[in-house]
Amino acid sequence: MSASVSRRSFLGLAGGTVALLGLAACGGNNNAGTDGKTYIVATDTTFAPFEFTNEAGEFVGIDVDILAAIAADQGFTYDLNSLGFDAAVAALESNQADAVIAGMSITPEREKKYDFSDPYYDSYVCAAAAEGGDVSSLENLNGMTVACKTGTQSASWAESIAEEYGFTITYFDTSDMMYQDVLTGNTAACFEDYPVMAYGVAQGNGLTIIGTDEEDFATPYGFAVMKGKNPELIEMFNAGLANIRESGEYDEIIAKYLEA
Ligand code: GLN
Repeated sequence: MSASVSRRSFLGLAGGTVALLGLAACGGNNNAGTDGKTYIVATDTTFAPFEFTNEAGEFVGIDVDILAAIAADQGFTYDLNSLGFDAAVAALESNQADAVIAGMSITPEREKKYDFSDPYYDSYVCAAAAEGGDVSSLENLNGMTVACKTGTQSASWAESIAEEYGFTITYFDTSDMMYQDVLTGNTAACFEDYPVMAYGVAQGNGLTIIGTDEEDFATPYGFAVMKGKNPELIEMFNAGLANIRESGEYDEIIAKYLEA
């Protein structure tokens, strides 16, 4: 795993609660496989509460735990590679990963290229600015530069409204790099998935939400493979997801990260 990107700045915003929560096995690749294949699953680096490095240095999160629970239920083996969102998708496309789990939005456009599992979490997008600063609404972004994360739905939202609100966009590879850029005052705001930003704000990351889109950019998260490849992996993910929803394990995982 390469989860070391900007751990310091992430921990700065993670606060104290996360350490109590992060009990997931790192990597989660110790399940007994049935056919000997170890799937390579690519993920993001810092996208709390879905995947992140906690204060104990463990790579944890809702995606990490859900995948581990499903693999245990279905008896498949995997390695989890923490690459960054855009890099995870690139790894999938270049056959260096079998699947992606990274709070990845299921969109009609992506469904042309990838097969997604059943949805496992509902999301939408938001913009956030420095808490206590001059920017408190999208209207304040006129003439300013904002931060987006390459290849994401929140970047697509920003791109779709940039002209209307008169801002320009600069791109980053990771969420924590975007947040830092806003906190240091280089960019006026950043665009992010709402559940991720809301979690960060609640942890005291110094940002405040200034706008949302809950309609055009409301998309559930899914586990993705390349279209037509590894169909058995999608089947196992869906079967395992149904089982962990049924058993209550899914709810326990969500509660572990969101209701502590
Ligand atoms: N949900 C967003 C997307 O799929 C962002 C995912 C991420 O940054 N890990 O584009």
